Amino acid sequence: MVVSRCLGFDHCRYDGSTISAPEVQALRGEVEFLTVCPEMAIGLPSPRQPLRLVGEREPRLLQPATGRDFTAPMRRFAEDFLTSLPPVDGFVLKNRSPSCGIADAKVYASTEKGAAIARRAGLFGEAVRGRFPVHPIEDEGRLTNRALREAFLTAIFALASLRAVEEAGRMSDLVAFHARYKLLLMALGEARLRKLGRIVANAERLPPREVVRLYRAEFQDALRRPLRRPSAANALLHALGYVSDGLSPGERAYFLEAVDEYRAGRVPLSTVVGVLRAWIVRFDVPYLADQRLFFPFPSSLLSPEDSGGGREPR
Ligand code: SF4
Repeated sequence: MVVSRCLGFDHCRYDGSTISAPEVQALRGEVEFLTVCPEMAIGLPSPRQPLRLVGEREPRLLQPATGRDFTAPMRRFAEDFLTSLPPVDGFVLKNRSPSCGIADAKVYASTEKGAAIARRAGLFGEAVRGRFPVHPIEDEGRLTNRALREAFLTAIFALASLRAVEEAGRMSDLVAFHARYKLLLMALGEARLRKLGRIVANAERLPPREVVRLYRAEFQDALRRPLRRPSAANALLHALGYVSDGLSPGERAYFLEAVDEYRAGRVPLSTVVGVLRAWIVRFDVPYLADQRLFFPFPSSLLSPEDSGGGREPR
């Protein structure tokens, strides 16, 4: 995963500081980081005079204190860096930065004092989004929102696992991968699940690498969408079928009511999933224990903290 270096990895900010980013640091030991500080990569020291985006239409990356224009070096660095990247599963970039920001860097009318006139991606963040349009890309601010963080984690762990399938190049691995993600895909929409199922069935007898390529394109696009409550409710009811025989009428009724509450938007998915997780353990159901809808990333990364901030998933 590519991450802005100032998010707890180095004191590389304009003022010589680093940023405490617990949501990023929690991933240590679980993901491989590739850190980058685009401003230092183009030759700036830390500390340094700050940069800002100037001009609404085609903003330039300027250093007001010196009048220097870093637009071209930054664009060149971004192009070279992103072209030479090994396969990556996602990005976490520093929010609000005129270089790394993915959506909320301030844009000014001039290098003089004055209020911001717009917000947009920084130059490096913009290049990342342009070159990796369907990859999971977040900033550390959005990751404080639990729903956004869990969607991001689900996506990067799914893509890392799919990358292992790609590297092995075996159809049997893809079939097993698809089986593990079946209920998650069902929760994203039956049509998508069916489409991916057809790709895996490979009626045209395409070579495995071509099948995996087609699968990845469709799968990655699926992960970009938020779960749809009616579809997710169907997936939960499907899972109930695997444990239903062992439940009392009261337990079944409780679960059905919880699913109704979720469908109506009155409780989060995690409430219903929590109940199912307990039953998966109680009844020892390997099929469900393997389903990434219930266990999408290492449990050490589960956290109740939620800033309540952030925006809706993109
Ligand atoms: S926001 Fe990006 S450019 Fe700025 S210090 Fe952090 S990593 Fe470096």
